[in-house]
Amino acid sequence: MADKQYDVVVIGGGPGGYVAAIRAAQLGLKTACVEKRGALGGTCLNIGCIPSKALLQSSHKYEEAAHALALHGVKVQGVGLDLAAMMTRKDRVVSDLTKGVEFLFNKNKVAYVKGAGRFTRANRIAVGSDGKDEGIEAKNFIIATGSEVMPLPGVEIDEQQIVSSTGALALPKVPGHLVVVGGGYIGLEMGSVWRRLGAKVTVVEFLDRIVPGMDGEVGKQLQRVLAKQGMTFRLSTKVIGAKKSKTGVTLTLEPAAGGTAESLEADIVLVAIGRRPYTNGLGLETAGVAIDNKGRVKTDAHFRTNVAGIYAIGDVIAGPMLAHKAEEEGVAVAEILAGQAGHVNYETVPGIVYTWPEVATVGKTEEELKTAGIDYKSGKFPFTANSRARCNAETDGFVKILADAKTDRVLGAHVIGPEAGTIIHECVMAMEFGGSAEDIARAFHGHPTLNEAVKEAALAVAGRAIHI
Ligand SMILES: Cc1cc2nc3c(=O)[nH]c(=O)nc-3n(C[C@H](O)[C@H](O)[C@H](O)COP(=O)(O)OP(=O)(O)OC[C@H]3O[C@@H](n4cnc5c(N)ncnc54)[C@H](O)[C@@H]3O)c2cc1C
Repeated sequence: MADKQYDVVVIGGGPGGYVAAIRAAQLGLKTACVEKRGALGGTCLNIGCIPSKALLQSSHKYEEAAHALALHGVKVQGVGLDLAAMMTRKDRVVSDLTKGVEFLFNKNKVAYVKGAGRFTRANRIAVGSDGKDEGIEAKNFIIATGSEVMPLPGVEIDEQQIVSSTGALALPKVPGHLVVVGGGYIGLEMGSVWRRLGAKVTVVEFLDRIVPGMDGEVGKQLQRVLAKQGMTFRLSTKVIGAKKSKTGVTLTLEPAAGGTAESLEADIVLVAIGRRPYTNGLGLETAGVAIDNKGRVKTDAHFRTNVAGIYAIGDVIAGPMLAHKAEEEGVAVAEILAGQAGHVNYETVPGIVYTWPEVATVGKTEEELKTAGIDYKSGKFPFTANSRARCNAETDGFVKILADAKTDRVLGAHVIGPEAGTIIHECVMAMEFGGSAEDIARAFHGHPTLNEAVKEAALAVAGRAIHI
């Protein structure tokens, strides 16, 4: 059978790949997307962003019903947990959304090719298993094969007692003691879900702080609030081994700097120390595509690999492993392939932790500005002084805006508080437009809204906040 021919073939149907495919098709390119998972949407829709946020929402409602509504004068009796129903709802959200992507493929005439793609030469891939390979040729390929869980030596994941985020999204019962290895956003989100549902949760983190890479002050505050909610933190500590028994797992811990070992008993261990690029079985060597020392496909500023006609985007290349970063790269690469000027502004990629309170950050942290020797001004406003947060009885956290000391241009914004993940986007927009703290401060903000805390933080940059 003759090979099929396309203008663009995207390998991987995650947020990077499916968005690239839709945009390429919108721009008139004959496009196919190859996905081996059996469902579109990649890590994000199937085992990442979406199921985790569905469980965060459900567990938040459970905790509110059980503990927070009385404060509002709402009496609720006999609050109970139906974990199976919660999981079924989560699975339905996932399947509705993944089917939604299939609908979008049909609508935009993107050919959906089911199976694993591997390069047989630079302008051809084979899809499927031995003997039943379908050959596909294209003028351009986009590698969007994403990432996989980073393993932890000595702590082998079995997805039963020692789980990755994938197993943690589908535990059959609430564990007595969940030990989370890794204090990044995935560990804290999944830890929050199970703590709200009744587990004792201990987070073991190698570094001396959680959410490394985020603004230090925000990280400290998040740890304080999560500890107040009942999470236990073991910082500067490493997990060096795990022994399973019928009833649980005994972890061996050691101070990060070395020293006396100790053991910690867990019912379930969640390994959440990060993710690594995934290119297994893709035949990169056959095509001659170069990777870097972290296994990421090497690209230039236009997503080109070292092989003409092969591009790469998303988690499989350098940069933050986030769905919206992959999506923007998907749009940009498709536009470049259609002869347009696709571009991604990496200075304004927001990062969000969907705990409660949420944490959201964009641009430079104070630590980064200090290291770079940039002279900056900081304006901060606490949610305790925000009237809407008071009405909602959700006053933990603050907004911090960092602006250039001379030009007043916003260089970074860091929010910990209710709806931080939504609030941050006015700062993202301001930064995208090269806005100043004064621009934000002079813009109308409806009253009473949580966003007024952003306006006040922007006013505070010039020392003129009104409500504190
Ligand atoms: C628990 C969890 C929570 C997360 N929460 C968030 C969040 O709230 N917000 C956020 O922005 N990000 C979140 N992420 C990260 C986000 O999921 C990723 O950044 C995003 O999915 C990356 O998109 P991608 O398209 O690059 O790759 P992926 O989504 O990983 O998609 C790659 C796809 O390629 C397929 N594939 C691989 N090799 C082949 C092959 N040879 N042939 C065919 N198909 C192939 C895979 O099956 C996969 O479906 C979360 C991740 C996890 C694990």
